[in-house]
Amino acid sequence: EADIAMYEVKAKGRDGVFMFNEEMSNRVESHLEIERLLHFALANNEITLHFQPQFDREGRIIGAESLARWNNPTLGSVSPAQFIPIAEQTGLIVELGHYILETGFRTLREWRDEGICLDQFSINISMRQFTHHAFVEQVEDLVQRYLDEELCHKLIFEITESIVAEDIKRVISVMNRLKESGIRFSMDDFGTGYSSLSYLNRLPLDEIKIDRSFVGALDQKEGDRMMVVTILNMANILKLNIVAEGVETAEQLDFLLRYDCHIFQGYYYSKPLPKEQFDAYYRSRA
Ligand code: C2E
Ligand code: MG
Ligand code: MG
Ligand code: MG
Repeated sequence: EADIAMYEVKAKGRDGVFMFNEEMSNRVESHLEIERLLHFALANNEITLHFQPQFDREGRIIGAESLARWNNPTLGSVSPAQFIPIAEQTGLIVELGHYILETGFRTLREWRDEGICLDQFSINISMRQFTHHAFVEQVEDLVQRYLDEELCHKLIFEITESIVAEDIKRVISVMNRLKESGIRFSMDDFGTGYSSLSYLNRLPLDEIKIDRSFVGALDQKEGDRMMVVTILNMANILKLNIVAEGVETAEQLDFLLRYDCHIFQGYYYSKPLPKEQFDAYYRSRA
């Protein structure tokens, strides 16, 4: 197209040709822009948490997942799928992760004071945050400041299969230290990564979350239906709780109920909500 200028750039020292267009160069620019602005996001109070309710088989709210939101005056709202990886690459995730934990813990405590009682509260933990040498101390310090035993036992940390790239002995030891405080672990986006069954069995997990790409394809793809049934059977044999994420339709819910899924989360019930809206939603269903 005429409005998309195409350039050819000779890669240095090679004769391969690297093509890019304006759209691509804008993307590179905005990546740098995001990175720059992300440095100020915390200090400027631009990061908030939203909470997506989770439901049991009877349709009661039994939990919530905390999801980070970033609203910047220049960029507008930036998806965590975009800024979390940048925060990981730059190391900002340690500071950002601390803020997310602190805000999450404080919210869990406020909920109890307000009579909002959940069985579980999930917080996403990125790998770079998890493997940071000060992670356990950071969590233990925040636990002491904000939580007690009852509330600690509601906490679930969501990790991903990217953990298989890490030193498994160290991963297990970090998990076990945190489990001493009552914190549980969930494998997020299950089925999209590379973890083997034997690996999965060695980790002290309490829950797995079936990735929403499988749930979303339930009505279309026979292969994905089999995948979901297999994951559900496996989780039940391993005595793991199982959450289906991205439940959007009654048909998907019916299927998951039929195959013994325990916990459900998705737009069928509710999008992630700011705290006041979550509270109102909870009360309206109680
Ligand atoms: P995730 O942890 O797998 O979170 C689920 C994502 O699916 C969320 O996207 C949620 O809004 C979305 N979702 C939930 N139900 C539905 C549904 O029915 N349909 C569709 N289409 N989507 C649904 P979100 O909030 O944009 O977050 C994207 C990812 O960013 C998260 O995936 C997680 O990997 C990461 N993330 C978000 N918040 C945090 C955080 O505080 N810390 C870390 N480390 N990562 C985070
Ligand atoms: Mg998650
Ligand atoms: Mg997920
Ligand atoms: Mg994810």
